[in-house]
Amino acid sequence: MRRFEGNVAIVTGASRGIGRGIALRLADEGAKVVINHRGSAAGAEATAEEIRSRGGQALVIQADVSQYDEAQRLVQETLAAFGQVDVLVNNAGLTRDTLIMMMKEEQWDAVIDTNLKSVFNCCKAVARPMVKRKRGRIVNISSVSGLAGQAGQTNYAASKSAVIGFSKSLAKELGSRNITVNVVAPGFVPTALTEGILSEGDNTQRAIEATPLGRLGTAEDVAAAVAFLASDEASFITGQVLSVDGGLVMQ
Ligand code: NDP
Repeated sequence: MRRFEGNVAIVTGASRGIGRGIALRLADEGAKVVINHRGSAAGAEATAEEIRSRGGQALVIQADVSQYDEAQRLVQETLAAFGQVDVLVNNAGLTRDTLIMMMKEEQWDAVIDTNLKSVFNCCKAVARPMVKRKRGRIVNISSVSGLAGQAGQTNYAASKSAVIGFSKSLAKELGSRNITVNVVAPGFVPTALTEGILSEGDNTQRAIEATPLGRLGTAEDVAAAVAFLASDEASFITGQVLSVDGGLVMQ
C-alpha cells in the first residue's frame, strides 16, 4: 500500500522505539517524513538513513516539543522544506515513574510537559497550515495507563488521559475543516521506555499473561494503526481512541 504518496508527515520522538516504527511505516507508504528528536541525533539520523535506504525521503529536525517555541520552529522548518503538513503524529513521550509519596514536582512537570504540553504545542503549530489547506490528520499517542490507570504512574496516566480529552475537543473544533484527530493507546511494547519495568522480576511474563492475545506489542503493531488513522481510509473517523494492546484493556 502507498497511501501517503505526496503527503508530508511529522513524527515527534522518532529517534527510536515506536516513533521510529511509525516513521518507517509512513515513509514506506510514500510520505516524506520529518524525524523529530530532542537529544538523540544519532538515532534520528539512523531512522532517516533507513528511510533513504528504502528509497524514501526523510528530514531530521531537532526540537524539544515540550517547548512552545521549538514546536513552532519544527513546523516552520517542515513547511520551509516540504511546503505542507498533512500528518502530525504526536508520539514523543517519557516516564518518571514513582509512587506519589516519592514523586518530586520536577517528575510531575517533566511528564506533563513532554507528554501533554507537547501535544498542545504541536497541534497549535499545525492547526493554521492545516485549516488553510482544509486537510489534515492528527494522531496522538496515549497509553493503556491513560485508560485504566497504573500505580506509580499518576503523572504519566494523567498526561495520557488528558491527551484523550484534548483530542476529542480538537476533533470537534477542526472537524468542519476536514481535519481528523484520533488517539492510539498502545499496551506493552518493549522499548527504551519500558526496559526498566519489563526487565524487573517476572513483569514481562505477567504482562504477557494479562494480555488476551498472549504477547507483547511491537512498534509495527502501533504503526499499522497510526497509518490507518492517518490515511484516507479513516476519513470519517475522528475523536476516537484505538487501543493497540492485544486486548489488555477493553473499554
Ligand atoms: P522511547 O523512549 O523509546 O522513545 C521516546 C522518543 O521520544 C525518543 O525518540 C525521544 O527522543 C523522544 N522525546 C522525548 N522527549 C522529547 C521531547 N521533549 N521532544 C522531542 N522528542 C522527545 O519510547 P517509546 O517508543 O516506548 O514511546 C513512544 C510513545 O508511545 C510515548 O508517547 C509513550 O508514552 C507511548 N507508549 C509507549 C508504550 C510502550 O510500551 N513502549 C505503551 C504506551 C504508550 P530523545 O531521546 O531525542 O529525547
